[in-house]
Amino acid sequence: MAHLTAAQLIKTTDGPRRKRAQFVRIIQAKKYRTKKTKQGVIRASLQSLKGYGSGKPHGVEIRSMTGNYKISKGPVRVWCTCEDFMYREEYALTKLDASRIRWSNGKPATITNPYNTPYVCKHLAKMLSTIINKRM
Ligand SMILES: [Zn+2]
Repeated sequence: MAHLTAAQLIKTTDGPRRKRAQFVRIIQAKKYRTKKTKQGVIRASLQSLKGYGSGKPHGVEIRSMTGNYKISKGPVRVWCTCEDFMYREEYALTKLDASRIRWSNGKPATITNPYNTPYVCKHLAKMLSTIINKRM
């Protein structure tokens, strides 16, 4: 199974989503290590700026797949609580082991993402580019 890094997930994401990520702000973020496996995990809450998106806060999780505390370098698994992620991205990302079914019904997104193209929502695009820039 292929694995994807933060940089690869951003690269596979279309321009309009990446652009919309510029209008998302991080409300809070925390990074920790899992007790057993010592993997780095980031949990964050993000929200679109006024006038962009629903204004509802969404929660993202980015999890290192190796025992690395530094998440920005190696392969990751990602989740977001937004509808875009649930209805288009989660299933497709599981095909590359870049997510696990958590928020969706686990069925292929045959209409919204028929070719299972791996990409991320604006919240994850914002958080992934932030961890790369900050070398987290
Ligand atoms: Zn999202």
